[in-house]
Amino acid sequence: MVRAMVSVDDSSGRTLAELPAGVDRIVGRDDVALSLAQAELERAHETFRGVTENLPIPLIFWRDRHILHANRAAAELVGISEPRMLIGRRTDAFLSAEEQAEADARAEVVLRARQAVPERDFRIVRPGQPDVIVSAVGVPVTFNGAPAVATLMRDVTRLRELEAESRRVGERLAHERRVLDATLSSVRDGVALVSAQLTLVYANPAYFALTGLRPGAPLGIWDIAPHLAARSDHPEEVIAFFANAAERDAVNVPRVFELARPERVVLERRVTAAAEVGELVIVWRDITAQYDLERERTRLAHTDPLTQLLNRRGLEALLPRERARAHRTGARLAVVVLDIDRFKELNDTRGHIVGDRVLVAVAKAIVATCRATDLVARWGGEEFVVWVDGADGAAIVAERVRRTIAETFPEGMAVTVSAGVAALAHPDEPLEDALERADVRLYEAKRRGRDRVVGDPEREA
Ligand code: GH3
Ligand code: MG
Ligand code: MG
Repeated sequence: MVRAMVSVDDSSGRTLAELPAGVDRIVGRDDVALSLAQAELERAHETFRGVTENLPIPLIFWRDRHILHANRAAAELVGISEPRMLIGRRTDAFLSAEEQAEADARAEVVLRARQAVPERDFRIVRPGQPDVIVSAVGVPVTFNGAPAVATLMRDVTRLRELEAESRRVGERLAHERRVLDATLSSVRDGVALVSAQLTLVYANPAYFALTGLRPGAPLGIWDIAPHLAARSDHPEEVIAFFANAAERDAVNVPRVFELARPERVVLERRVTAAAEVGELVIVWRDITAQYDLERERTRLAHTDPLTQLLNRRGLEALLPRERARAHRTGARLAVVVLDIDRFKELNDTRGHIVGDRVLVAVAKAIVATCRATDLVARWGGEEFVVWVDGADGAAIVAERVRRTIAETFPEGMAVTVSAGVAALAHPDEPLEDALERADVRLYEAKRRGRDRVVGDPEREA
C-alpha cells in the first residue's frame, strides 16, 4: 500500500491533493494520513538527492569508514566516473592512516555530540592520479534512519600550492633581506634605497649613523635636509641642494657636505643608480680623513713655504673664482706686480739667509697693507703679485706697500720695491694681458730709478 504511494512521480507536477486518484485501493483515514506523510518524506528525500547530486560541492555521507552516499562532484574529486561506484567503498582507501584517524575523531564528535566540525585540510589519495587537498567540514545527518556524517569538501589543492609558493617567496625574500642586512651592516658606507616617490625603502645602520636620522619613522628624501642643515654652518646651501636633489640625482653628481656638528665631519653623497631605474641607491661616505688630507695637499701645493703666501699655482687656481666674483659684483680687477730692488746685491752682501728674512718681511708688509679680500702671491724669486678690486684701489695699494716697505727696514739696510699696476681694460680681458702690462710698467719703474710705482699712464697724467 505504501509502495503505491511512493510511486508518485514528483516531476509530474501533481499535488498531494490529487494523490488519492492515483491510489489503487481504498484505505482507512489513518492509513491515508500516514501514506501522505511518508510520501511527503520520500518526496523530500528525492528533492534532496536531486539537489545534492547536482551540487557542485563534493559531498559524501559515511559512517564507520564506509561511504553510504556520494554525489557527482565527490566522484569527480576522487576520479571515479559514477557516484554509485563510491557507495560501500572504504574511506581509508582515500586517506593515509594518520588522516583517517583524524577523520574518525571528527566523526566521533559529529555522531556523538551531533555537532558540526570545522574546516580542516585532508589529503585525498587517488590511485594512479596526483593527490588532491580538500578542506572538509563534517555535519551530522540521518541517513536511512541512522546517524551518519555528511562531509562537504572544497578542492584547495591549487590554493594551497599558491599559498606554499607565496610562503617560499616570502621566506626567500626574508632570507635575502637578512643577507642584505648582514652584508650592509658591516659596511661603513651608509647605503639607502629610495623609491621613485623618494621615500626611504631600505637603509643600513651606517646610513642612520652618518646622517643622524632615526630608523623606524617613514622617511622621505626631504626629511634628511633639515637634519643636515642643522649640523651645517651653511644650512641654506644644504636646503637648496635637497630642494633640487631629485633632478641632480639623475645626473649622478657626487656631492660633499662639510658638517660642523656634533663633531666636524665631511660626508660625500653619491647616487649609484639612475632615476630611470625607478629606485635610487644613495651612498653616504665619511670622507673626512681623505678630504682633509687632500685639502692639506692642495694647500701645500698652493703655498710658498718661505713666505706662506700663495705661490703662482695657488694664485692661478683662485683667479677664475675671483674673476667670476668680479663679474657678479661688477668690480674691475686690477693687478700690482712688485719686485724687490737690487735684491741680488743684498743677497751677495748679506747672504741668502738675510735675503730670505727680507723676503718674509716684505711678504708680511704686503699682507698687512692689503685687504683680506685681495689676493697676494709670491710670483717668483723676489717678485710679488696682488690682485685687487678696482684700478684706483690697486694704485693706492701699490703706493702704500712701497712706502711701508721703504719704512720697514732698519737704517743701513735700505730695502725698497718697485711696482707696476694695470687694471683690466674690460671685464673680459684675459688676466695675463693685464699682468703683462703691469710687468712692463714694473720695468718702467725700475728704469726710472726704482722705489716707485708706475700705473696707468692716463691716470698718472
Ligand atoms: P732689480 O732691482 O733690477 O730687480 O735687481 P735685482 O737684483 O733684484 O734683480 P735680479 O732679478 O737680477 O735678482 C733677483 C735675485 O733674487 C736673484 C736671486 O739670487 C734672488 N732670489 C730669488 N729667490 C730667492 C730666494 O728665495 N731667497 C733669496 N735669498 N734670494 C732669492
Ligand atoms: Mg729685483
Ligand atoms: Mg726680479
